[in-house]
Amino acid sequence: ERFTDYKLSTEIEKALKDLGYDKPTEVQRMVIPHVLKKQDLVAKSQTGSGKTASYGIPICELVDWLENKPQALVLTPTRELAVQVKEDITNIGRFKRIKVTAVYGKQPIAIQKTELKQKTHVVAGTPGRVLDHIERDTLPLDKIRYLVIDEADEMLNMGFIEQVEAIINKLPKERVTLLFSATLPETVKNLASNYMKDPIDIEI
Ligand code: AMP
Repeated sequence: ERFTDYKLSTEIEKALKDLGYDKPTEVQRMVIPHVLKKQDLVAKSQTGSGKTASYGIPICELVDWLENKPQALVLTPTRELAVQVKEDITNIGRFKRIKVTAVYGKQPIAIQKTELKQKTHVVAGTPGRVLDHIERDTLPLDKIRYLVIDEADEMLNMGFIEQVEAIINKLPKERVTLLFSATLPETVKNLASNYMKDPIDIEI
């Protein structure tokens, strides 16, 4: 299988080539076609497998550049992962000029508020700070069509599940939800059954 099988736009194909990604990894082969068809999924996958690009590629493909409000929200357990996701998606979306904002604690909220006021297609952030922006009305959610819950088991370990649920409850119902987790404890499975539509199970 090759990236060209997915009929991606030339801007995305060129970015993948520049990144030196010549063929999809296993998780990418299993995830990309489903996301392009807007199917919810639960993927049991490890870091280092290419999971960020497995959702980053189809999200970059599907977002509407013209829309100014965020269309995709990626929740991560740590600031480091939020920053990594921002970098990876920025690289994939480079030639489509996709704008990604990372929001996390410890950085002054004012900097993030300014970024969020400008055009941004994707927001990657930790649950506490994402909720903080939602409560301050600095992160509009009405155009969110894609939600990614990354490292869901870590989210659980760090005590963030209630915040994740509070965020999900504020999102538009009409959306694609993708959950990634190295392990699938009961609480993570419940998240999938409560907030996802017939998710496809993917195990790598
Ligand atoms: P991740 O699992 O998202 O942390 O990705 C692990 C590493 O694999 C990152 O450095 C990516 O840049 C790289 N990567 C992702 N997809 C591919 C691919 N298709 N070919 C080569 N490297 C990739």
